[in-house]
Amino acid sequence: MKKVAVLTSGGDAPGMNAAVRAVVRTALHYGFKAYGVYNGYKGLVENNIVELGRNDVGQILNRGGTILGSSRLPSFKQVEVRGIAVENLKQLGINALIVIGGDGTYRGGMELKDMGINVIAIPGTIDNDIASTEYSIGFFTALDTAIDAIDKLRDTSFSHRRCTVVEVMGRDCGDLSIYSGIACGAEIVITKETGFIKEQVLKQVQLAQKSGKRHLIVVVAENITDVFELAKSIEAVSDYNSRASVLGYIQRGGTPSAFDRILASKMGVHAVELLRDNQSGLAIFTNSLEIGHCPIEEALDARDETTDLYNYLSKLN
Ligand code: ADP
Repeated sequence: MKKVAVLTSGGDAPGMNAAVRAVVRTALHYGFKAYGVYNGYKGLVENNIVELGRNDVGQILNRGGTILGSSRLPSFKQVEVRGIAVENLKQLGINALIVIGGDGTYRGGMELKDMGINVIAIPGTIDNDIASTEYSIGFFTALDTAIDAIDKLRDTSFSHRRCTVVEVMGRDCGDLSIYSGIACGAEIVITKETGFIKEQVLKQVQLAQKSGKRHLIVVVAENITDVFELAKSIEAVSDYNSRASVLGYIQRGGTPSAFDRILASKMGVHAVELLRDNQSGLAIFTNSLEIGHCPIEEALDARDETTDLYNYLSKLN
């Protein structure tokens, strides 16, 4: 009998609950026992581990955050602390652990794998900073939130002929900024990847003004520069009156989007099926939004992906 535990760790992300639900329901579907670890790695160390039934994960598919709770436990980098976690899992006879989180969570999972636990990692982070996957659970919901906010700022920006500087989350990853910049038609996007040279940005603003732009949107990823200072500098070198807004934690919450619910459900099923097949030490990824092309005649013959979805559905109820 397999016993599968699941935890959510690091920054919470909309869709984590959908993944927890999929893990628990799929584990039960295959006749395994399912356990929830509360508050991430902290709960592993504190033995806050509870057996879950199918109804324990009912009514959560549409909820943001994580019902299991999350935390940051810097001391989990110490082997002695992880040793307590491993011992707690062993005492309960739990032989598999699914961790849902970002890059820090993955590092913790890797360490546990090296200590003999069968670990599978699912990407759950609004930052989209896991290199192996094109998209992580929560990213598109956070993006929708950022886009909604920037669209609203744009209205006032247009009316008042402003340069609006918006700080978007992402920790050290510029994905939320670049995607929201594209989706909102921002004139300037500044991320770690683009680099930031203030003089260049100010020149871009002046050029935009010369070209007749009535107003400007500048999207800046967090941890790059003080957006309030940047707004002041823009005002000093241009005719735009300039304002800065920091979107902050609203980007982390909210009802998961359709995309995130489906992504999380599929990843949760896949993770348990890997364990069923005695595979572990693996990270789940998706690269499904690739843009491609094929001859028109083949377009109508291509396999329809929805048939696959029926296979997922049978595990989730
Ligand atoms: P995220 O998973 O969202 O990137 P963090 O970077 O805060 O969030 O990581 C979540 C938790 O993972 C940390 O609080 C810590 O308990 C654990 N963790 C992070 N890095 C390591 C590491 N190198 N070794 C072991 N555990 C780690």
